[in-house]
Amino acid sequence: MVESLFSSFENNYMPHGHCYFWEPYILWSHALSDSIIALAYMTIPLSLVKIVRGRREDDFAYMWMLVLFALFILGCGATHVMDVVNIWEPWYYTDSAIRIITALASIGTAIMLVKVTPQLIMLPSARRWQQMNSELKSLNDSLEQKVQERTRELEQMAERYKFMTNAIPQIVWTANARGEVDFFNDNWYAYTGLTEPESLLSGWGKVIHPQDLAAVVEQWSNSIAGGTPFEAKFRMKNVEEEYYWHLGRGIPMTDASGAVSQWFGTVTNIHEQVEKQEELQRINEDLDNFVYTASHDLKTPILNIEGLLTLLHSKAPAGERTDLGNIYSRMDLSVQKLKDTIHDLADISRIQRESADELHWIVLPELIEEFKVNSLMEYEASGARIETDLEEEEICCMSRKHMRSLLDNLLGNALKYRHPDRTPHIQVRTRLQGEEYSISVQDNGIGISPEHQPRVFDMFRRFHLQATGTGVGLYIVKKIVDKYAGRIELQSTPGQGSTFTVWLKKRS
Ligand code: ADP
Repeated sequence: MVESLFSSFENNYMPHGHCYFWEPYILWSHALSDSIIALAYMTIPLSLVKIVRGRREDDFAYMWMLVLFALFILGCGATHVMDVVNIWEPWYYTDSAIRIITALASIGTAIMLVKVTPQLIMLPSARRWQQMNSELKSLNDSLEQKVQERTRELEQMAERYKFMTNAIPQIVWTANARGEVDFFNDNWYAYTGLTEPESLLSGWGKVIHPQDLAAVVEQWSNSIAGGTPFEAKFRMKNVEEEYYWHLGRGIPMTDASGAVSQWFGTVTNIHEQVEKQEELQRINEDLDNFVYTASHDLKTPILNIEGLLTLLHSKAPAGERTDLGNIYSRMDLSVQKLKDTIHDLADISRIQRESADELHWIVLPELIEEFKVNSLMEYEASGARIETDLEEEEICCMSRKHMRSLLDNLLGNALKYRHPDRTPHIQVRTRLQGEEYSISVQDNGIGISPEHQPRVFDMFRRFHLQATGTGVGLYIVKKIVDKYAGRIELQSTPGQGSTFTVWLKKRS
């Protein structure tokens, strides 16, 4: 049927054999060589199809070109087949169709080839591939070696870190960004007797005293949430189930973006300090009670002695009065001194008991004027000059009576310990630095020697006897400043003068 279809188209032409006059040599040489060429052509696409199939999995970029090339070669082969057929059968239309398809495929292949030629030129040769491969291998080997070295270094570092954490007497811990503890040094296990699985994550809570646990957990949660340093005091149980006071501390380590990546912390046994502090507190309370009782209970007998002395003095016969006068006035002086001491002790006790919650807006110029009026005699007699440089005239940092007591003591001392060769010049200065007031009282008096300065705020400590006093004034000043969580500093040069500076938090 196919034959009849072809013959209806092609029958009008002569086969090519006529052109060769059916000369056997020409005819068979053409037929054979065209058949061999056609066969050779046909095998090429087979190899190309094999390549395409074999590299289907790869990202081989020239796959389409190979397919097109196979088509083109197949077409070429087909034209040679047609050359053989046409010797006997004039199927010129079929031949033309095959040639057109081959021509199209050849154009496509040629265009593609032009396009990919630069890339093909760039493709490394097999030798270059081999060279690159061996370079890559040696790079890989050296990288592997480096990784091994680095791993060894890291292992050594980890060993050293572990050794170091075990060498220090404290408990050391680390936690991840979520606050789950992931490491304790050996001291932890030795103290608590817990195992690693019992301790890690939040297992540590088991050994914290039940009364302290909630506060510790809250503090720790706040630190984790805010990325702020952790600090808490708590009692912790040892292997013998005995509780000792400890101080836990932790600091966050942040990454380049500022986020917490790890926590490092310590736990230190502070039991001895806490016990000493408690004992000191008890002693202080006892002392306060003693001072309070003494100042109150001694007041009445001293007043009695004073009255009795006056009575005795007035009752003495006229002749004896002058002889005994000297003794009476010395007794008066002693009684006066005793009264001053009791008055100061009562002041200390009062300040101790008064609360620091009462805060007033204090107009400093008013208090300075009050001081001048109250110490008018000494102030005027000395010819003193008080200058003010008040950046803040009105300040809010404590109760008015405490500020009055503080200023009276500092200004009074500046007058009392004046230099014999010059008139007292006192300067009161205030500044607001950030959230802190500084109030300073500077004099040009006799000054305080460097070896005495560290003990100037101690109770009953006196370094100059040129003026009367009890050695309690600066102790009271320090007590007041401490009460408001402030601080006081002294700068002094013997023979030139002193400056007392008080620092107080601004509150309003
Ligand atoms: P008192 O004045 O009653 O002795 P204070 O506690 O006020 O007690 O002062 C303690 C001591 O510090 C004083 O005895 C004095 O030696 C020294 N001192 C205090 N203020 C000054 C000052 N402005 N200049 C020199 N010395 C001072």
